Amino acid sequence: NDRLSSRQPAPAKLIVLAGPTAVGKGTVANHIRENHPDVLLSVSATTRAPRPGEEEGVSYFFVDDSEFDRMVEEGELLEWATVHNAHRYGTPRGPVEAALAAGSSVLLEIDIQGARSVRRAMPEARLVFLQPPSWEELVRRLVGRGTESASEQARRLETAKVELASVDEFDYQVVNGNVGEAAQEVVDLMKTRKAKR
Ligand code: 5GP
Repeated sequence: NDRLSSRQPAPAKLIVLAGPTAVGKGTVANHIRENHPDVLLSVSATTRAPRPGEEEGVSYFFVDDSEFDRMVEEGELLEWATVHNAHRYGTPRGPVEAALAAGSSVLLEIDIQGARSVRRAMPEARLVFLQPPSWEELVRRLVGRGTESASEQARRLETAKVELASVDEFDYQVVNGNVGEAAQEVVDLMKTRKAKR
């Protein structure tokens, strides 16, 4: 039985961090960006407008619809999805493949549809589901950040319920109670081999 063999698993070089709205994926990813410069954090392309403080090429590559269409047609994206029924987001393929070829670890912070696409495109990817400490805490974080209208909050919570039920498709779960601890757990998945028994 292959899955139970004692073969030593390679360290995970490609990690996908996904999870429901407001769970803190972006915050955990930023923490990793600041504290683990050796990990490449993929910069996505998006058709949404920049928010105050967001920088082109750092937060996202901000593109218009026709440029996004071109990237899709020319196969430049490893995966892409329409998120929250609004804008399109996608992972540029080139930098991810170059980093993996150079032996670096790569982190993708994307939505759950994107995680599924990456699993199909790159079966060696390890999928991490970021969990809220509780449903009540997820609601508190979404309402607390105050960036969505009440109706948009309600819609995202409906989506979150469905997404939370997809956790079994993932390789690992990390609970985001404390950002530093959650970030460290994710980084450990990239750097450590499982102990040989
Ligand atoms: P925001 O607009 O708040 O920055 O991001 C909205 C959502 O889009 C988040 O759930 C984020 O994970 C997701 N997202 C960001 N980049 C990508 C991407 O390249 N691909 C996919 N599928 N989702 C993404």
